Amino acid sequence: MSDASTNPLRPRAAIQQLLLDGNVRAVLEMAGMLHGHYCVGLALGVKAVHAGFKRLGIIDNTGMEEIMAVAECNSCFVDGIQFAAGCTLGNNALVYQDLGKTAATFYCRGGSVAVRVCVKSYDIDTGPEEEKREGDALFEKAVKRREKLSDAENTRMKELWNKRSFAVAAAPDERCFLIADVKAPAFAFAPIFDSQQCVVCGEKVMESKAVFRNGQPHCLACAGEEYRMVVGKGISVGRTAH
Ligand SMILES: [Zn+2]
Ligand SMILES: [Zn+2]
Repeated sequence: MSDASTNPLRPRAAIQQLLLDGNVRAVLEMAGMLHGHYCVGLALGVKAVHAGFKRLGIIDNTGMEEIMAVAECNSCFVDGIQFAAGCTLGNNALVYQDLGKTAATFYCRGGSVAVRVCVKSYDIDTGPEEEKREGDALFEKAVKRREKLSDAENTRMKELWNKRSFAVAAAPDERCFLIADVKAPAFAFAPIFDSQQCVVCGEKVMESKAVFRNGQPHCLACAGEEYRMVVGKGISVGRTAH
């Protein structure tokens, strides 16, 4: 990593510089630290940020909701978006739309134009057909059927995935994406709420999430109320059992 990454005033400077330099490969290498493995989805996420930011002329993101990303799925792709764009669930600059599309829209607050980057296909022809078949077969076994791979198979799958991911990172944008200018969304800044203290568990809870029973604040979990959560399949409804 360059020295810029240690700049306490601009902690994302190194990533931003690599994007400006068009070094998608280096950003993908770093994104593996967040995501845990290399895959085509992660590569496409990083690449989508590069394409979107370039089109919008974005040169920095301080994570204060000035640059926004709207993701239409919760998959590997979104980790590429979060890492490369610096728009995350935690800094409220990531909006999650439960549409199940591998697409993301980027915009700067105050601007009228946004850029939507939609993945055409994961099936980008990047190498020998037999390697693709071998990688797909290992994916089927490990991820779709949840069967245990041998150490050798596991290593081989990672090798094949890495190769394919970095090949996708180097592929021309037009082979991977449909890129279009769209009207900028108008999502409000994240509101700041006071806290209430749940009378059952004693924990602090954001006022907007608290419910009152006989005038007493309760968190949704202690009140046995429904709440929404993001799980593997998308947004669903939960309720804490008592
Ligand atoms: Zn992945
Ligand atoms: Zn509680």
